[in-house]
Amino acid sequence: MPAFKLVKNLKVPGVEPPREACKDPNCPWHGTLKVRGLILEGFVEKAKARKMAVVRHDYLYYSEKYKRYERRMSKIHAHIPECIKVEPGQKVVIGECRPIAKTVKFVVLGVKG
Ligand SMILES: [Zn+2]
Repeated sequence: MPAFKLVKNLKVPGVEPPREACKDPNCPWHGTLKVRGLILEGFVEKAKARKMAVVRHDYLYYSEKYKRYERRMSKIHAHIPECIKVEPGQKVVIGECRPIAKTVKFVVLGVKG
Protein backbone atom coordinates (compact mmCIF):
# COMPACT_ATOMS: atom_id res chain seq x y z
CA MET A 1 0.00 0.00 0.00
CA PRO A 2 1.41 3.44 -0.82
CA ALA A 3 2.22 5.86 1.95
CA PHE A 4 -0.65 8.04 0.90
CA LYS A 5 -3.39 7.90 -1.61
CA LEU A 6 -4.35 10.63 -3.98
CA VAL A 7 -8.01 11.06 -3.34
CA LYS A 8 -8.53 12.82 -6.60
CA ASN A 9 -6.71 12.90 -9.89
CA LEU A 10 -7.37 16.46 -10.97
CA LYS A 11 -6.63 16.99 -14.62
CA VAL A 12 -5.24 20.48 -14.79
CA PRO A 13 -2.98 21.24 -17.76
CA GLY A 14 0.56 22.12 -16.70
CA VAL A 15 0.10 21.08 -13.09
CA GLU A 16 1.48 17.89 -11.59
CA PRO A 17 0.19 16.33 -8.37
CA PRO A 18 2.23 17.30 -5.29
CA ARG A 19 4.91 14.83 -4.23
CA GLU A 20 4.23 15.00 -0.52
CA ALA A 21 1.03 14.08 1.21
CA CYS A 22 -0.82 16.28 3.65
CA LYS A 23 -3.66 16.07 6.11
CA ASP A 24 -5.23 19.38 5.19
CA PRO A 25 -8.98 18.76 4.76
CA ASN A 26 -9.08 21.81 2.47
CA CYS A 27 -6.57 20.29 0.04
CA PRO A 28 -7.89 19.62 -3.48
CA TRP A 29 -5.55 16.62 -3.82
CA HIS A 30 -5.68 14.89 -0.44
CA GLY A 31 -8.67 16.44 1.31
CA THR A 32 -12.36 16.62 0.67
CA LEU A 33 -12.39 20.02 -1.04
CA LYS A 34 -14.10 20.05 -4.41
CA VAL A 35 -12.88 22.29 -7.22
CA ARG A 36 -15.57 23.48 -9.53
CA GLY A 37 -16.11 26.59 -11.63
CA LEU A 38 -13.23 28.76 -12.73
CA ILE A 39 -9.63 27.66 -13.13
CA LEU A 40 -7.32 30.66 -13.42
CA GLU A 41 -3.64 31.45 -13.64
CA GLY A 42 -1.88 34.21 -11.80
CA PHE A 43 1.24 35.37 -10.05
CA VAL A 44 1.70 35.16 -6.31
CA GLU A 45 1.90 38.67 -4.96
CA LYS A 46 2.05 37.95 -1.23
CA ALA A 47 2.27 34.74 0.72
CA LYS A 48 2.48 36.17 4.21
CA ALA A 49 -0.76 34.96 5.73
CA ARG A 50 -1.01 31.48 7.17
CA LYS A 51 -2.23 29.12 4.43
CA MET A 52 -3.34 31.99 2.18
CA ALA A 53 -1.81 33.78 -0.78
CA VAL A 54 -2.77 36.87 -2.72
CA VAL A 55 -2.75 35.97 -6.40
CA ARG A 56 -2.77 38.63 -9.07
CA HIS A 57 -4.79 37.66 -12.14
CA ASP A 58 -4.35 39.72 -15.30
CA TYR A 59 -6.96 39.50 -18.04
CA LEU A 60 -8.22 41.36 -21.07
CA TYR A 61 -11.60 43.04 -21.14
CA TYR A 62 -13.17 44.10 -24.44
CA SER A 63 -14.37 47.68 -24.38
CA GLU A 64 -17.40 48.04 -26.65
CA LYS A 65 -17.07 51.84 -26.84
CA TYR A 66 -13.43 51.94 -27.95
CA LYS A 67 -13.44 48.58 -29.80
CA ARG A 68 -10.24 47.59 -28.07
CA TYR A 69 -9.12 45.37 -25.26
CA GLU A 70 -8.16 46.93 -22.00
CA ARG A 71 -5.93 45.30 -19.44
CA ARG A 72 -7.54 44.54 -16.15
CA MET A 73 -6.38 42.75 -13.07
CA SER A 74 -7.87 41.33 -9.94
CA LYS A 75 -6.33 40.20 -6.70
CA ILE A 76 -7.68 36.89 -5.53
CA HIS A 77 -7.23 35.34 -2.10
CA ALA A 78 -6.37 31.66 -2.51
CA HIS A 79 -5.96 28.95 0.10
CA ILE A 80 -2.59 27.16 0.11
CA PRO A 81 -2.78 23.44 0.99
CA GLU A 82 -0.06 22.12 3.30
CA CYS A 83 1.54 20.04 0.53
CA ILE A 84 2.18 23.02 -1.80
CA LYS A 85 4.82 25.66 -1.15
CA VAL A 86 4.52 29.00 -2.89
CA GLU A 87 6.71 32.07 -2.98
CA PRO A 88 6.01 35.56 -4.27
CA GLY A 89 6.58 35.84 -8.02
CA GLN A 90 5.68 32.26 -8.85
CA LYS A 91 3.04 31.47 -11.42
CA VAL A 92 0.28 29.37 -9.93
CA VAL A 93 -2.93 27.77 -11.08
CA ILE A 94 -5.91 28.33 -8.83
CA GLY A 95 -9.32 26.73 -8.89
CA GLU A 96 -12.65 27.92 -7.60
CA CYS A 97 -14.03 26.08 -4.60
CA ARG A 98 -16.51 26.61 -1.82
CA PRO A 99 -15.83 29.58 0.46
CA ILE A 100 -13.09 28.57 2.92
CA ALA A 101 -13.05 31.95 4.66
CA LYS A 102 -14.84 35.25 4.20
CA THR A 103 -12.70 36.27 1.22
CA VAL A 104 -11.15 32.93 0.23
CA LYS A 105 -13.03 31.12 -2.53
CA PHE A 106 -10.08 29.77 -4.50
CA VAL A 107 -7.44 27.16 -3.79
CA VAL A 108 -3.92 26.80 -5.20
CA LEU A 109 -3.77 23.65 -7.34
CA GLY A 110 -0.07 23.86 -8.11
CA VAL A 111 2.89 25.88 -9.25
CA LYS A 112 3.33 26.22 -12.99
CA GLY A 113 6.70 25.91 -14.64
ZN1 LIG B 1 -2.37 17.97 -0.03
